[in-house]
Amino acid sequence: MKAVRLYEYNRPFGEALKLVNVPDPKITSPTDVIVKIAGAGVCRTDIHIVQAVWRDALGNPNLPYTIGHENAGFVEEVGSSVTGLAKGDPVICHPLMTCGLCRACRTGYDMACEHGVFPGLDGTDGGYAEYLKTSERTIIKLAPGTDPVPLAPFADAGITAYHAVKKALPYIYAGTQVVVVGIGGLGHFAVQLLKVMSPATVIALDTNRERLTFAEQLGADRVALAADDGGIKEVLNATGGSGADVVLDFVAENDTPSYALQYMRQSRGATYIVVGYGGVVAPTTLDMISKEINVIGSIVGSYAELTELMELNRQGRVHISSTTFPLSDYEHALDELDAGRVLGRGVLVP
Ligand SMILES: [Zn+2]
Ligand SMILES: [Zn+2]
Repeated sequence: MKAVRLYEYNRPFGEALKLVNVPDPKITSPTDVIVKIAGAGVCRTDIHIVQAVWRDALGNPNLPYTIGHENAGFVEEVGSSVTGLAKGDPVICHPLMTCGLCRACRTGYDMACEHGVFPGLDGTDGGYAEYLKTSERTIIKLAPGTDPVPLAPFADAGITAYHAVKKALPYIYAGTQVVVVGIGGLGHFAVQLLKVMSPATVIALDTNRERLTFAEQLGADRVALAADDGGIKEVLNATGGSGADVVLDFVAENDTPSYALQYMRQSRGATYIVVGYGGVVAPTTLDMISKEINVIGSIVGSYAELTELMELNRQGRVHISSTTFPLSDYEHALDELDAGRVLGRGVLVP
């Protein structure tokens, strides 16, 4: 089968990653499932993998391996103990293969599985390929007739936004002003979720006017352009001078966190939820106590949350905008994402 594999870090996408022929994956465990990939989401994390941002955190995986962690398709083959799945069923895969037995799994916090395996990230082959080997526990069966292609980005971008919005909900009341930073693959989704799941006033913040218009189409109440001051002036205007009660930061690189600390409500209890990464959040301890600032981290989301999201999607209440590229155009798809030219999410189709 064809697969896009990482051979070398810190090279242009077309050199770091190569489209090659590899043997089809084989069932080796009774709980294995082989999925014929219909769509694989193109994620900023894929760019960060090529840039070696994750290399040490992932224990320096052996190269080459196939990347791609936002996968949806059709069941191709199942292991001997798998029941309830048949060849041809449309499915989406939770990105982490979990054991189901450890304490984290048993408490529903499966993203922290002690034996978790992350295809496409940790050296295990992912979904930029024709077939993916995963395990029964990752699979969510979609309604018969569902086209899995546009759903692929829900597997990571979708649940990451959903998990972060759920973390924000206890701090949101009618009148709460929530700023969504970065209207990309995750942010455009968070805007919709906030409108569906809360009475928040949603303010979209981005450096790009086209994305702000997109956010308005998705239901944002107000928009703010991040100019040289990171959007401080426009967010203060958009919030009537009071500042944001809750900030969901899908960027969190460079100076973005320090700007956020300045356009958050200064008088009391603002909440800053970090979803992007790369920068440093450094409020003083005096500021933290005197303003009662909450700083909360958020990563991906659970299997159960992905099922909840599939239900919201089935109800037609949320939607990921996707642009498809043939698998062989992976370099172009990554370049477009890197240049900020993809509205919503790119999806590779083998
Ligand atoms: Zn991702
Ligand atoms: Zn586990």
